[in-house]
Amino acid sequence: MTNGFEQQGLIEPVARLMEEFSRLPGIGPKTASRLVFFLLRAPDEQAHALAEALANLKDNVRYCSRCFNITVSDPCLICSNESRDQARICVVEEPLDVLAIERTSAWRGVYHVLHGRIAPLEGMNREDIRFDELVDRVRSEQIDEVLLATNPNLEGEATSFHLHRALAPLGVKVTRLARGLPTGGDLEWADPSTLGSALDGRREL
Ligand SMILES: [Zn+2]
Repeated sequence: MTNGFEQQGLIEPVARLMEEFSRLPGIGPKTASRLVFFLLRAPDEQAHALAEALANLKDNVRYCSRCFNITVSDPCLICSNESRDQARICVVEEPLDVLAIERTSAWRGVYHVLHGRIAPLEGMNREDIRFDELVDRVRSEQIDEVLLATNPNLEGEATSFHLHRALAPLGVKVTRLARGLPTGGDLEWADPSTLGSALDGRREL
């Protein structure tokens, strides 16, 4: 099978890796070729270490069966940590949001990672994210609070609205991050002190 890079006259191993790099987010054909020629000049060990790290990532990282965060052990270290408040769930869109919140040290509960948000225009609906898994979790575990920490943008607010509507009948306390985070942004990029205040100042819905 030939790809666009091979059609440009590049030899197969070079074209193949360029094709793979250019399928990654944020990497265009120019960057892909720069990376490939960098690796060709790099010591063998460096290229092999990269290949090994990629294989190790896919072989050893999985999703926690309870909170769907990335983990090497199941349940993850946060779900199995008895000093965390297992009755408070912070709901986030992506695993990187967990890291952002952990950096604030303002949350002692556990998490639920949705892996996306509701955005019908992009074809993302309730069934495409870990939405019902959260509802099931609140039904089957003793949960005191669900903090909705989806991003402070249109899709994040819509996701939070739908989650609140699904959780309210279960009688659980539902809270939302305080306003004050840069609107339209991602939690991932919020500075720890602003995010920490948004967690501390969360309001009940
Ligand atoms: Zn977990």
